[in-house]
Amino acid sequence: METMFIDGKWIAAQSGETIDVVAPADGQVFDRIGRGGMYEIDLAVRAARKARSGAWGRMSATERGRILTKIGVGVLDAIDLFAPIEARDTGKPMTTARNDIVVLARYFEFYGAAADKVHGEVIPFLDGYAVQLLRDPLGVTAHIIPWNYPAQMLGRTLAPALAMGNAAVLKPAEDTSLSALKFAEIAMAAGLPAGALNIVTGYGHEAGAALTAHPDINFATFTGSNEVGTMVQRATAANVVKCVLELGGKSPQIVFADADLDRAVPIIVKAIIQNAGQTCTAGSRLLIERKAYDEVVGRVAEAFSKTRVGTPEMDLDCGPVMNPAQLARVQGFIDAAKSDGIPVLAEGKLAAGLPSGGYYATPTLFGPVPRNNKLARDEVFGPVLAAFPFADEADAIALANGTDYGLLAAVWTENAGRLTRVAKAVQAGQVFMNCYGAGGGVELPFGGTKRSGHGREKGLLALEEMSSTKTLVHYHG
Ligand code: NAD
Repeated sequence: METMFIDGKWIAAQSGETIDVVAPADGQVFDRIGRGGMYEIDLAVRAARKARSGAWGRMSATERGRILTKIGVGVLDAIDLFAPIEARDTGKPMTTARNDIVVLARYFEFYGAAADKVHGEVIPFLDGYAVQLLRDPLGVTAHIIPWNYPAQMLGRTLAPALAMGNAAVLKPAEDTSLSALKFAEIAMAAGLPAGALNIVTGYGHEAGAALTAHPDINFATFTGSNEVGTMVQRATAANVVKCVLELGGKSPQIVFADADLDRAVPIIVKAIIQNAGQTCTAGSRLLIERKAYDEVVGRVAEAFSKTRVGTPEMDLDCGPVMNPAQLARVQGFIDAAKSDGIPVLAEGKLAAGLPSGGYYATPTLFGPVPRNNKLARDEVFGPVLAAFPFADEADAIALANGTDYGLLAAVWTENAGRLTRVAKAVQAGQVFMNCYGAGGGVELPFGGTKRSGHGREKGLLALEEMSSTKTLVHYHG
């Protein structure tokens, strides 16, 4: 299986081994990818290094931007082919898959247009000196992405790296590598030089571990679980390589009694159901001011019970979860909460006629959840929402900040002072005020605090994250 894209050529794993690709909607094997490892990673890193010192490294920022923009157009032109690949590989509804491809294109439009607008600085210094601050690419960048939004993630991580002139090696998730392979065809057709982007498919503990431990990478960005993120940080530290970690979340929706519920309720439900809850920024905790608790959970429960789960072709509110391990994990949380006696307030519906081998989880709303319960603290990464009452503003902030995570938060209130006070007090990389944006907003700097990770992606800040500065000090007398 020639599913590795290295130095502008398609190659198979040297071992000849492959990994089955399974459709979450029916559990059937429908494709295979190569099982790359240390050998292929080394080839890819060498190809990237060569590209840095070749045509790609010498290319002007304007020309790089032009290629990225062309990639964005190529992605959109291919959407009718691309979206069904992504939908089958992930199980997500077709509309969601199409939206993910649009976002992938949007990353290349945004960073393509930004490539030649990264300016240096002139720094006032002593008499007789001129000082310039140049912004340089880091060199060879390593990118490891998860299975929940494969197309979006590859746009998020690759577009700013390439815009800055880095040469990249991508290791997609073993469950969902197909959109990355389709993407490589489009990038090549748009004129991306050989070696500027290399893709090695394979398992995390093999290809992923080999990439993050490679002595000739200059930067690594990882999106995925906290367990693996810690390993990535250790591996890169051994070579003093900078890393950005985008990890999990347990993001709160903080709803005060005066909130505009007509606006809030559908957004709150979508923020947990979208992508079957497999979104690091899912709004998985619903914090409600006690005096409005019954009304708010009643309204959310009514909307939640109307959500429907189906195959990509049924195109309902969400699809299956990714794999049997993820289904067992989500079901484990649901079973544990039930056996702890936490009331089920609402359940979504599995559509009739679902294929029997698919990995379908029933969306479930629990509440009130005790604050020390596992469901209050741990990330489920599934369509499970936990409701909690709070007493007042101070209690809301304490509850919101009471987990190890700090990725996103939302505050819902018509009181402008409280809206800003609470938003400033919540520990999170993004806070939405009377709105919510799980996954959205190419323009908006994004990343975690606490155990949700460190470093920033998206927006213009990603260009700083994926570059370095050099200070030139010139004595001219
Ligand atoms: P995961 O950590 O198991 O895998 C993520 C990627 O890391 C995959 O490509 C995998 O092959 C690779 N990997 C596995 N072991 C590795 C190793 N030893 N060295 C290097 N790479 C290795 O995560 P997952 O199960 O694919 O995704 C679910 C998790 O990701 C959730 O916890 C979720 O919150 C998190 N996530 C975070 C964000 C974010 O932006 N913060 C986005 C999506 C998912």
